[in-house]
Amino acid sequence: MRTFDLTNPRSCLILHVRNMGIEDRNHRLTIFERGKRMTGKSSKARHLWLNGEIVPWDGATVHITALGSLLNVGTVGEGLRAYWNADKRKLFVFRLRDHMERFDDSMKLQRMDRPYTPEQLSQAVVDLLKADGLLETSYISPRAFFDPFASGSAGPFVEDPASAQVMMYAGARPSILPDPTPIHCCVSSWTRQSDSMVPPRIKGFNYQNNRLAAWEAHINGYDNAVLLNSTGKVSEAPAACLFIVRDGVVITPTFTSGTLESITRRTLMELYRNELGAAVVEREVDRTELYVADEAFLCGTGAEMKPIASFDRYSLGTETPGPLTEAIRRLYYDILTGKNSQYDHWLTEVS
Ligand code: PMP
Repeated sequence: MRTFDLTNPRSCLILHVRNMGIEDRNHRLTIFERGKRMTGKSSKARHLWLNGEIVPWDGATVHITALGSLLNVGTVGEGLRAYWNADKRKLFVFRLRDHMERFDDSMKLQRMDRPYTPEQLSQAVVDLLKADGLLETSYISPRAFFDPFASGSAGPFVEDPASAQVMMYAGARPSILPDPTPIHCCVSSWTRQSDSMVPPRIKGFNYQNNRLAAWEAHINGYDNAVLLNSTGKVSEAPAACLFIVRDGVVITPTFTSGTLESITRRTLMELYRNELGAAVVEREVDRTELYVADEAFLCGTGAEMKPIASFDRYSLGTETPGPLTEAIRRLYYDILTGKNSQYDHWLTEVS
């Protein structure tokens, strides 16, 4: 059994399919793993970063009536990881600047003023991790939102751009990368939202689409789901991008298929090309290609990398990860944990 003493400060419900779980407002974490249900206690973080200040966790409250204003909040966010390097006994944030640049893009698309540069936000992540004294692999959650009580709104849903607030919090979240056990996925009956509706390019609080697919998969006995877009092509999983391998070629749906501009996807494509000499193609992917793929896996910052054994119970032929999946899993983990110094430029030391 895994260790489930996660220090996850979130007090709202979160759902992650497979190897993750639901945390209630009392910080009880329920993990679903292949039908088993386990419960653990997670502890609270001590600080968060709010509009340029490190503030005590308990002091960062919002009035209950803000909940009624949530429709107006228009939150965008990010999700990063910092990995513990056991040799150096230090935390290193992975691709910090890239995440903060995407955060900046999300704020821009949501028409928020951006009071902090990606550079300042990168420093804020380091300051927060230092203040919290986290000494284990962690997950950082930056958020930007319109102040629900600000005046200056030009009309419903036309908030004052200057009312944008920025905060971030972090908590321990162990890596699942050492576990190569593949998962079983379904193709969701829900359609992935498109750029002309709720743009996946904005990493915003538009996760209802993902949530519906995740619940459907869970209820039907799958570990996770893959969504098709409105043209019937493969898009992504809730909170993770998808790769398949066919005849030695590594294939991933295009960013115009309804996927977030994933930093993990970009990372793995680069590693495949530069380190493993593999052919990598970004293109539209048909549903039936999933069923005849040789290998497949999901990837994302939180999801890390998860091999897939079947789609809709069409087996990919093996219960162990295929060679191109296994090779990238090992390489990626070594880079994240500082065992491969060639990619140290992707790591920011917290010291
Ligand atoms: N798609 C969605 C909808 C996500 O939320 C995530 C996680 N951020 C991903 C894909 C993977 O993106 P990344 O590799 O940048 O974490």
